[in-house]
Amino acid sequence: MKLHEYQAKDLLNRYGVPVPAGGVARTAQQARELAADAGGRVVVKAQVHAGGRGKAGGVRQAYDAEEAAQAADSMLSSSLVTAQTGPEGVPVSAVLVEEMLNIAGELYLAVLVDGGSKRPVVMASEAGGVEIERVAEDTPEKILVEEIDPALGLMPFQSRKLAAGLRLEADPARNLSRVVASVHRAFTDNDCSLVEVNPLVVAMDGSIVAADAKVNIDDDALFRHPQLAKLYDPTQDPPIEAAARERGLSYVKLDGDVGCLVNGAGLAMATMDVAVAAGASPANFLDVGGGADEEKVAEAMVILLSDPAVRRVLVNIFGGILRCDVVARGILMAAERVTGPVPSIVVRMLGTNADEGRQILSGTELPVTLVDDLGAAATAIRRIG
Ligand code: GDP
Ligand code: MN
Repeated sequence: MKLHEYQAKDLLNRYGVPVPAGGVARTAQQARELAADAGGRVVVKAQVHAGGRGKAGGVRQAYDAEEAAQAADSMLSSSLVTAQTGPEGVPVSAVLVEEMLNIAGELYLAVLVDGGSKRPVVMASEAGGVEIERVAEDTPEKILVEEIDPALGLMPFQSRKLAAGLRLEADPARNLSRVVASVHRAFTDNDCSLVEVNPLVVAMDGSIVAADAKVNIDDDALFRHPQLAKLYDPTQDPPIEAAARERGLSYVKLDGDVGCLVNGAGLAMATMDVAVAAGASPANFLDVGGGADEEKVAEAMVILLSDPAVRRVLVNIFGGILRCDVVARGILMAAERVTGPVPSIVVRMLGTNADEGRQILSGTELPVTLVDDLGAAATAIRRIG
């Protein structure tokens, strides 16, 4: 789950990371007041779950309260399209109004889970700012990486090593070591998958300030952080994904036309491969999980069918704790709930109560094709296409 920048900054600030003074505005008038309080010279920043705002007009400098109000007004009345969003962009319902910083340098700092080393790593660069992707591509040696042993945690020498590698003067170097330790503590305490501060600003007076912040919380750990879970903003996700999330389904929208209803993430990936092998492409990744009941299967199917891109459906269930008859009844319930015609559904069911499930589905009017294995599933999908 992603936090907004202002939420991420609140969190990091509680761990001792300095952030610019400022506040959140949901109207132009609120932005005007915040800017006036800050003395007029402010930065107005669109709060969206996407980076690349700086290059897309989502970060604007204002030199008086009126200018700040205008910047806020134009952001709040539109969606923001950045290199990290789709062409439709994401709605802006809040802006952050912050004192303008006197920037001497822009660093990059992140703590994230590195799939390669299977450990948290701290990444830092002296070349932070809006061109960081370019730096990673063209001059990767400018990106420093420290792997963290989870049993030991971040060691003080690692923070010092990073500070030295960033070629900072004595004061900023000391400040940086503290900030790295704080960011790492925030990352660990809150079960984050990513904490990224870009830019981490070195101010003219040698202080270090987080000018931007991105925090992603591991969804599987959210139950341990009810205060953070409350910060979820459904407007930032595609409507179908938000609806699925509310029902505890793992759903990712993709570009193709084959809706995939599956139990288990590994099976979902194998199922997408089947779709691709059939010369088609998946419209989604939908995992109903292990403990679903009829109602949850029905909700999953309704969500899947609500995507207008879905022209055919592939159901691939390996019945274990989730019984195949439960899935079959869920599919029938869903068919009753949707208004338009139900597209062709290819069903492969194995495991607990598979015969019963198949029987339930074969006794209906629904356009269901029952298959025995994945090869047959691919053939059937191809035929429907
Ligand atoms: P992003 O493009 O979505 O990552 O948005 P950022 O918050 O990183 O802002 C983009 C750029 O705007 C930063 O790299 C800075 O150069 C600039 N910026 C952000 N805050 C300030 C500020 O307080 N003062 C000044 N002068 N520039 C800022
Ligand atoms: Mn940034």
